[in-house]
Amino acid sequence: MESVGVPLQGCAPAREAEEPPGSPALPAEEPQSGQYAGEPPGEEVLPAVTNRERSLRGAGSQGPPGRPARGKGRRAPGRRGGEDVGRAVRRPRVTVDSSKAKTSLEALKISLRQLRWREFPFGRRLPCDIYWHGVSFHDNDIFSGQVNKFPGMTEMVRKITLSRAVRTMQDLFPLEYDFYPRSWILPEELHLFVTEVRMMKDSDPSWKPTFIVKPDGGCQGDGIYLIKDPSDIKLTGSIQSRPAVVQEYICKPLLVDKLKFDIRLYVLLKSLEPLEIYIAKDGLSRFCTEPYQEPTLKNLHQVFMHLTNYSLNIHSGNFIHSDNVNTGSKRTFSSILCRLSSRGADVKKLWSDIISLVIKTIIALTPELKVYYQSDIPAGKPGPTCFQILGFDILLMKNLKPMLLEVNANPSMRIEHEQELSPGVFENVPSPVDEEVKVAVIRDTLRLVDPQKKKRKDTQVIVLFFPAHFHFFSAIVAGMKDKQHKHHSLKLSLKLKFYFRLGLCQTLEHVSEANEELLDARPANQAEREAGRSPEAGLPSLCLKQVFPKYAKQFNYLRLVDRVAALFIRFLGVKGTTKLGPTGFRTFIRNCKLSNSNFSMASVDILYIDITRRWNSMAIDHKESGMCLQAFVEAFFCLAQKKFKSLPLHEQVASLIDFCEYHLAALDEKRLVCGRG
Ligand code: ADP
Repeated sequence: MESVGVPLQGCAPAREAEEPPGSPALPAEEPQSGQYAGEPPGEEVLPAVTNRERSLRGAGSQGPPGRPARGKGRRAPGRRGGEDVGRAVRRPRVTVDSSKAKTSLEALKISLRQLRWREFPFGRRLPCDIYWHGVSFHDNDIFSGQVNKFPGMTEMVRKITLSRAVRTMQDLFPLEYDFYPRSWILPEELHLFVTEVRMMKDSDPSWKPTFIVKPDGGCQGDGIYLIKDPSDIKLTGSIQSRPAVVQEYICKPLLVDKLKFDIRLYVLLKSLEPLEIYIAKDGLSRFCTEPYQEPTLKNLHQVFMHLTNYSLNIHSGNFIHSDNVNTGSKRTFSSILCRLSSRGADVKKLWSDIISLVIKTIIALTPELKVYYQSDIPAGKPGPTCFQILGFDILLMKNLKPMLLEVNANPSMRIEHEQELSPGVFENVPSPVDEEVKVAVIRDTLRLVDPQKKKRKDTQVIVLFFPAHFHFFSAIVAGMKDKQHKHHSLKLSLKLKFYFRLGLCQTLEHVSEANEELLDARPANQAEREAGRSPEAGLPSLCLKQVFPKYAKQFNYLRLVDRVAALFIRFLGVKGTTKLGPTGFRTFIRNCKLSNSNFSMASVDILYIDITRRWNSMAIDHKESGMCLQAFVEAFFCLAQKKFKSLPLHEQVASLIDFCEYHLAALDEKRLVCGRG
């Protein structure tokens, strides 16, 4: 496969070349929430910058705005955000409800100050533009705006659910999904685990594996232990009451300073439909605190040697707090890459592999997320849109292959750590490494979901929407000096004209798409000039890099289960449900013309009952009866294997999806014609 883009170039990608903005005279701190209820939007006063923030600005490379940036097109000193001194910005500011932000509050506050957005720390009676939740989507009843959590995400990334979702993809595309260690779900697959390991050992006596047992829903290394043999699983009732995942242990990780470490990478799922994914250019590397040795019966219990969790290693006497991103027990990922690069490692390939891993993992998660989404926010009903920052935990093998350990729905956004000042006296002290990475991720997530930016973009779309503006548009293109940009823009202008002729622009989508492409195609100097005028002037360039739909062409073929989920959702019927009833399943079979003399409706019912019963017996929540998406996927794979016998599984499934979609499209057309008649 063609390698995908590389966010980090060379050794210092996370550091912005741009001058870090400083602190011109700013107006006073804004009043606290509550005073704002019912206030008119419009002229507002900007918040002040704290001393701490000012000192951080000086130190950090991704500093907040405020100090005038040098260079062409930038505002002179003494101006705030491109406006006159002493006068308030005449733009309604984005409002953010931070009352449920929990431990991410501190980093969020800094981000909001940098953006000059308005925070409501105690909530607001009027709707806010953005709701920032520390834990889950269900923290509030929200009917508009945007919320930083997807419904169902916490459930989706639990160890068992993630393992199942990845396994479905491994069944379809084993080679593409080899970045996730072989896993078994306990207790239901205990026998399978024992048998498979025995068979593998028999076929390769030199294989001396180690396994890691991880309780489902656990975090921070809680309840994790290593074993050398399946018979070592602690079957002390706990497995029954606390299901777990047992996984092949990666024995040969890449070491730095003889220590095992893992990477926490921040990924923004900006939208599910259409799928939009961004990856932060920098992450954190968390180090063990005991030199690594391959697992033996003697060292299996040494958590400081085998588990990289910060929450565990902080209790080791060897833990090093460092203000330097290149040293200590928590460092930036870019500092590791820099080191690897200096040793001649191919860091571009590594980044490309990491991007693939992230996109493929999200492709595995999206089908079920869509089921949760339509159940919580049914189409056509008022509700918020969602986005979410995910924490990907990745381990590098000795050969630099990245392996996925887990995905966190609520990655820690704390930018402080506890320090023992004197015996028994603890204080929260700032952690510059965390702050550098996490504030940039939150701030740039907000920039990407900025509702005002969307409005501005829509306005541009409308401008281009009217044919009369083609002359103006052409003039812009004609003025372009750079041949490549000119050529690209001309192509876009023709594309727009073509859409108008076809009358396709009624949807505005094509125009919007082409318009975005045009904006991206602007020569750098033009983009810079515009940035100088925009409210974002002075902010560092985005630390989040779009990877999807950018690389969609390379990954779309993997999105088969997504299409199966679309069929499932179509037949769910009652809004708000996540499970398919027997009638819905029968309707699916009938509408897609899947029953015949070899596969009667009685067999359809048996298939439904068999699979549904098995999945429901494994389910953690028994709230709803019926067939869940995974059960439907299993039934679908069965039907595909029956119908298209000789093909590999992914082709069987793709053929059946095409078959179903064809019949459903024909049915829709027929209904449309009947409706018109
Ligand atoms: P938790 O959510 O409790 O942190 P993880 O799945 O992240 O659980 O595992 C905790 C730690 O165990 C990881 O940070 C990593 O250091 C180690 N680990 C987990 N799975 C593996 C594996 N398959 N091979 C090697 N080390 C692993």
